[in-house]
Amino acid sequence: MNTIQLQSIDDCSISTIPVARCADGNGTLTPLFFSDHVLDIARAKAICAKCALRVSCLDEALEREEPWGVWGGELLSGGRIVAHKRPGGRPPKRPRPPIIVNELGVVDPNETIDRVAV
Ligand code: SF4
Repeated sequence: MNTIQLQSIDDCSISTIPVARCADGNGTLTPLFFSDHVLDIARAKAICAKCALRVSCLDEALEREEPWGVWGGELLSGGRIVAHKRPGGRPPKRPRPPIIVNELGVVDPNETIDRVAV
């Protein structure tokens, strides 16, 4: 008969080192952070909004002059923070409505927490 021995929580080592929320070890989220699509960019920013490394991530990305991508909750282009990335094609005749996204991709007009406007 097999037995399982449980350890108390004090015996387990629990890491308190902040972890990048975008790093799952497989690069699963990488396309979101380097996408040209406004919805992907908004989702990447929403992920960064809860990341413990947000401030240092942005500082280091600016220092490295990252050419593109979402870093520390900001969209960078040419090493600088930009508000928007111009999508390909002709500019719209009418301004597009702002895209509001929370991390789960559910848009709730009454919710104000964890929302990122693009
Ligand atoms: S703040 Fe930096 S480390 Fe954290 S999720 Fe965003 S890109 Fe990743």
